[in-house]
Amino acid sequence: MKFDPNCIFCKIADKKIDTIIIYEDDDVMAFLDTNPVSYGHCLVISKEHYDSFLSTPKDIMNKVMNVAQRIGQVDITSLGAKGVNILTNCYEAAGQSVKHFHVHVIPRYDTTDGLQISMKDMSEEKLNLPTIAKEITKGM
Ligand code: AMP
Ligand code: ZN
Repeated sequence: MKFDPNCIFCKIADKKIDTIIIYEDDDVMAFLDTNPVSYGHCLVISKEHYDSFLSTPKDIMNKVMNVAQRIGQVDITSLGAKGVNILTNCYEAAGQSVKHFHVHVIPRYDTTDGLQISMKDMSEEKLNLPTIAKEITKGM
C-alpha cells in the first residue's frame, strides 16, 4: 500500500490524525471536512496514496465514487439537501491543496451556503470547438 508519511490524508487513513469518520472499508474512507462549505460537507478518499483522481487506478476510483454517490443520496434523504455537488480538484491550477486523491461531497441547500461555482461563458473568445475536440480525441 502506497503511503506518504508527509501526507495529511495518509495520516488520516492510518488513524494518526483524529477526524470525524462517517464511512470506512478496506480501500475507502469518508470523513467530515474541517472547513465545511455547507452542512454535511465531507471528503471521500482512497486509503492508499495517489496524487489525484488522474493517477488513481480505476478499481479504487470506482470504489471511492460508489461511496461518494451513496453519501450524496443520503444527503438528500437524511440531511434534507436540495442538491449535491460531487467534485474533485486535480492539481494546484484546479484548486487542489491536498495531493492525495479525494472527492468532495457537498450538500446544497440554498444560495446562502459557502460554495460558489461560476462558469464564465468564453464563447466570445471564438474558440475553435472542432479543433479542440480533435486535440482531445487524438490524445485519448
Ligand atoms: P482540496 O482543496 O480540493 O485539495 O481540498 C482539501 C480539503 O481538505 C479542504 O476542503 C480542507 O478543508 C480539507 N482538510 C484539510 N485538512 C483536513 C483534516 N485534517 N481533516 C478534514 N479535512 C481536512
Ligand atoms: Zn496520502
